[in-house]
Amino acid sequence: MISVEEALERVLDYVDVLEPEQKPILDCLGQVLAEDVYSTIDIPSLDNSAMDGYALRAEDTREASEASPRYLVVVGEVAAGYISTKEVRPGTAIRIMTGAPLPEGADTVVQFEATDEVSRKSSGDGSSQIGILCQAKKGLNVRYRGEDIARGDLILKAGKVLRPQEIGVLASLGHSTALVVRRPVVAILATGDELIGVDQPLTQGKIYDSNTYTIAAEVSRYGGIPKILGIGRDSVQSLIEKLEEGFDADMLITSGGVSKGDYDIVKDVLAERGEIGFWTVCMKPGKPLAFGVMKKMEGGKEKRVPHLGLPGNPVSSMITFEQFARPAILKMLGKKVLAKPTIRAIIENDVVNTDGRRIFARVTVTPMKSGDGVQYRASLTGPQGSGILTSMAKANGLAVIPEGSKGVKKGDIVEVQMLDWSEEL
Ligand code: AMP
Ligand code: MG
Repeated sequence: MISVEEALERVLDYVDVLEPEQKPILDCLGQVLAEDVYSTIDIPSLDNSAMDGYALRAEDTREASEASPRYLVVVGEVAAGYISTKEVRPGTAIRIMTGAPLPEGADTVVQFEATDEVSRKSSGDGSSQIGILCQAKKGLNVRYRGEDIARGDLILKAGKVLRPQEIGVLASLGHSTALVVRRPVVAILATGDELIGVDQPLTQGKIYDSNTYTIAAEVSRYGGIPKILGIGRDSVQSLIEKLEEGFDADMLITSGGVSKGDYDIVKDVLAERGEIGFWTVCMKPGKPLAFGVMKKMEGGKEKRVPHLGLPGNPVSSMITFEQFARPAILKMLGKKVLAKPTIRAIIENDVVNTDGRRIFARVTVTPMKSGDGVQYRASLTGPQGSGILTSMAKANGLAVIPEGSKGVKKGDIVEVQMLDWSEEL
């Protein structure tokens, strides 16, 4: 039996960061930037106004106050997107809108609220004067050229995971596309004579195939592209046939057929068509795990696709996916942080560890106010059988009960891998 860490290391050894692709920036959300991005422009491109107000010369506001305004002659108006054709000379001002380039001669903007604009408007004053009600410091309300981004600067480094704000920065630089690490295609095959597709009527002794759907949803959630191969029957021939269509994928994931039953044949397929690494992993649920490489000759060249054989029980397949498939997908995507977020929580139930494996117990984590901080509490979601998929549906975390331990008692502190890291937590 090998440890979770050792199994993970072996899986990660098989996969590499994928090659980059150039695509529209909006399609790049969550992907990893594959090149350094430098700016070829200044942002803002010109000195401009941060407020609606009057562009003027600071020295023309000297000693201005509400009691004794300084009156300036308004010589024009400029809106965002336009360049003023007028210039600000001593004793004059230009009405200016937020984002409009500062007119020649102006060095400061006084916002409407610090002028007599409103009272003039309401009294229907038609003169071209404006009263300035405060002394302004030079540069007030001016956004300077290049203060956000200067031409030539390194703005985004290769390796950055693109969030909405980075997509916005790319747009502000005028990029319509970006070079990002390609998303892995993950082919998914369910195995078992008992399985029926969700669009078929259920007959006696059969069950609906749920693993295809949980696995495909997890692949999408973590940034991969699922390719569903369907249901393979419990024969080497059926599996080999179905897996054929998975050879253009970056990874194959099967579920079922890896335990010690008579029909557990994923390892036979791997032995016949590839290189097999079959292990029992020191974890519960999810002890049996097959891993290897499927091989095929294509155009005189050998094609190799890593193959992860997850156990069939719905909870085991999800938990092993989280521990092994998720980090492999993240590595292929070029991500550096492969571990799930973890917290420490007080467990609200006893959990007995009967055979010393690492237990991943399904828990609901709730935050509680404690002093100045927050304390997390984790309680089991109910029966923990590896076939009870609703125990995953109720959970937002997996409490990790260490291997080699006898278990934990209510009130003990445990580490919890968060399945969801919701904003409420
Ligand atoms: P196996 O690993 O093939 O021995 O399967 C273990 C258990 O998981 C059995 O009870 C199977 O019926 C169940 N199982 C296997 N594959 C699926 C699947 N795709 N969807 C739901 N349950 C499954
Ligand atoms: Mg089976």
